[in-house]
Parts: sequence; structure tokens; C-alpha cells
Amino acid sequence: MKIICIGRNYADHAKELQNNIPKEPILFLKPETAIQPKGHPFFIPDFSNNIHYEVELVIKINKTGKNIEEQFAYKYYSEIGIGIDFTARDVQNECKDKGHPWEKSKGFDGSAQISRSFIDKSNLELDNIVFSLNKNGKEVQKGNSNEMIFTFDQIIAYASRFFTLKIGDLIFTGTPKGVGSVKNGDILKGFIKNEEILKVVIK
Ligand code: ZN
Repeated sequence: MKIICIGRNYADHAKELQNNIPKEPILFLKPETAIQPKGHPFFIPDFSNNIHYEVELVIKINKTGKNIEEQFAYKYYSEIGIGIDFTARDVQNECKDKGHPWEKSKGFDGSAQISRSFIDKSNLELDNIVFSLNKNGKEVQKGNSNEMIFTFDQIIAYASRFFTLKIGDLIFTGTPKGVGSVKNGDILKGFIKNEEILKVVIK
């Protein structure tokens, strides 16, 4: 399986990192080894001094497809969860400055945190999903799918032009504003509506 991620899909977040609003989705990949085994703590890697959390809605693909038309994209997923796209911001900035790929900063082991449960989309209003992240009990990020620049269906249509989507693939759909760093001892909890479906302890 693979993990496809969308960068800068919320205007407020693009602005907070002084990035332009994209005209088409910005795609990058994380390898399967980025997924943290459920319940394991997240260990801050030794190559970064600035690991950022980015809470994101995550689409789980349940049907194989290539060149999927936007109008049929809804057939390719039935569940939405959340995840944290952990980012070594210092490494990413160095990569950006040099014009190098981002993988070291975005695809390292443990960089993809996935909620323990996913919610059937029939129980959600897809264009009005409220999600949030708490750090040590205080809300640090809050988003709504209605703020996404590119919708779930547009993302699936676009990504499947380049990558065949397969059952079990995950798509991280971008983070709202409020990203920030973590340190040893922090506890992150992720919510869809008021339901906590993700917890990560930082070590
Ligand atoms: Zn992200």
C-alpha cells in the first residue's frame, strides 16, 4: 500500500508557512514504513530538532482505480479517518532551499499516524467534517472539510492520473492552520466531531 499526501490544501495553513495557494493539488508520498504501529509512542528522530504535527482528514481507498473521473470518485472510498502527518520542518526547509525532494522530512518511520478507527462516510457530511487536534489537553488545530481547496473527489481524480489507487491506500488531505512542534512527554489527541479516534504519546 502507499500513502499519498496533499500539501497546502487549506489556505490559512499555506499562509502560515508563507506559501502560495496552489492552482492544482501538491502531491507527495510516504512509504508504508511511515505508518506507526497502533498504540506505539512516537519517538522524535535524531535528525531533527523541529518535528511538527499536522492533523489531517484521511481517505481510505476501497477500490482499485486509475484515471478516475471526479464524478465517480465517491465510489472509491467509504471511510474517513484522521492522521498526523509528522514533518521534520527543519529538514523540510533545508530540502526546499536546496530544491531537493521532501521525503526525508515527510516519509520517515512513524511520520504517518493513523486513527484507530475510521468513520463510514454515510455517517458524515463530507463537505462539513469538523476535526481537531489537542496537545496536552489544549486544542491546537481545528479544521473543517469545507475549507479544503481541493475536495476529496477532486484529489482522488487528480492523484489517480499519476498513481493507480489500490485497496488500502491512504490519502492525507492536507492540514489546517495551527501546526506546531512536539517535545518528549507531549500527548496528542485527534478528533472527528467530538469523538477521539487518535492518541499519540511523544517520546
Ligand atoms: Zn500535511
